[in-house]
Amino acid sequence: MDFNESPEEAAFRTAAKAWLAANAPQHELPEGVMLDDTEEVMLGRAWQRAVYDGGYAGITLPTALGGRGGTGIEALIFAEEEARYNLPKGPYIGIGLGMALPVIGKHGTPEQIAAYADRTLKGELTWCQLFSEPSAGSDLANLRTKAVRAGDDWIVNGQKVWSSWAHRSDMGILVVRTDPSVPKHKGLTFFVVDMTSPGIDIRPIRQISGASDFNETFFSDVRIPDANRIGAVGEGWACCMTVLMGERLNQGGERGGIENLIAYAEATPRGAGTALDSGSVRMALAQALAEEQAGKSFQARLRTMVSRGENPGALAAMVKLAFARRYQQTSGLALELRGMDALAPPAGDARTREIQHDYIWSTVIRIAGGADEVLKNQIAERVLGMPGEVRMDKNVPFEQLK
Ligand SMILES: Cc1cc2nc3c(=O)[nH]c(=O)nc-3n(C[C@H](O)[C@H](O)[C@H](O)COP(=O)(O)OP(=O)(O)OC[C@H]3O[C@@H](n4cnc5c(N)ncnc54)[C@H](O)[C@@H]3O)c2cc1C
Repeated sequence: MDFNESPEEAAFRTAAKAWLAANAPQHELPEGVMLDDTEEVMLGRAWQRAVYDGGYAGITLPTALGGRGGTGIEALIFAEEEARYNLPKGPYIGIGLGMALPVIGKHGTPEQIAAYADRTLKGELTWCQLFSEPSAGSDLANLRTKAVRAGDDWIVNGQKVWSSWAHRSDMGILVVRTDPSVPKHKGLTFFVVDMTSPGIDIRPIRQISGASDFNETFFSDVRIPDANRIGAVGEGWACCMTVLMGERLNQGGERGGIENLIAYAEATPRGAGTALDSGSVRMALAQALAEEQAGKSFQARLRTMVSRGENPGALAAMVKLAFARRYQQTSGLALELRGMDALAPPAGDARTREIQHDYIWSTVIRIAGGADEVLKNQIAERVLGMPGEVRMDKNVPFEQLK
């Protein structure tokens, strides 16, 4: 097996690198500075517009959607090169590109594609994901937010939670229950919703860091036009699967890849030399590098499958599971390299603060987009063919569940 890039891939990398060197530096965020959310989204939109103008927006999205129609490997190459810069790339952009566009492209109408694809690729529309509820996280199909048809509209009532950046999003992808008389996976319908619609109340959840990345989103008699329905009534679960596939396959690309870590080890003084002179550090880095390369090759293969219209199914869970574990391990290794100062870095030491942030953030990646245990269950059942979990509620109408 040849792990080297093909001549076309190498040419793509050279071109992407050159384009980024010419365009990314003026969009970089200042190291260690916490920006106001409104300002960050403004910068994020501007960077996405630059990516679009450069021809790199939506690399694996079909050209019919306005994407580049490229391969999964090209998308990873671009993400790797882009990760060398500290760019504003929040969920408000990533949810649009990695979740909303794939679901609209696969299940939406030509009118819906025309309404949302180009504006999302250009960074003009920001998006949030309105799936989780207080009693529907891992068991998403247990959701209770409901929509009732009223003429050309649907009237939505209920509550979502953990809606990342909903407070700065123009649009949301929303799954609701439209038929409680059938089993839980069957009575769901999928919509896109304008986040300025009357009746939407977005309440920030305050984190220990002082930031508020997430929200509770309440719906009180919110009218959503039927024209915003994605897919058929009752087929919301299939739409959710498309979204979750995109979410899992798009993991990675965060700063903190092994190459950065090697550079960090080389810049960290230890004894008369640097941390990179230590045999145990080299061993840990080599192990992490091998795991990263294997993970990325696997991820590229699955993303290429998706861009060809094939369905990797539960294999996508493996990408997410492996990435989350790797990210936590490598950010832990970065903390160890920094030593005791990592716990209380001197003021102005922005790099160590970034490392601390990565380490804390890496723990939530083991939950967001599917918790480790739940992904392991999926792999066990659907990839390895092991016996399934006992599901008493599988064929019971939702309204009869206790
Ligand atoms: C950083 C972050 C961002 C997020 N952003 C969004 C967003 O934008 N939009 C959105 O809709 N949601 C978002 N979420 C919510 C996320 O999808 C849920 O947190 C996730 O699905 C887990 O659900 P839960 O929090 O309800 O935990 P639960 O489902 O209650 O799980 C709690 C624990 O029980 C375990 N568990 C549950 N079921 C099983 C089982 N069958 N077998 C074994 N163990 C099990 C889980 O692994 C976990 O450890 C975000 C979450 C995080 C952390």
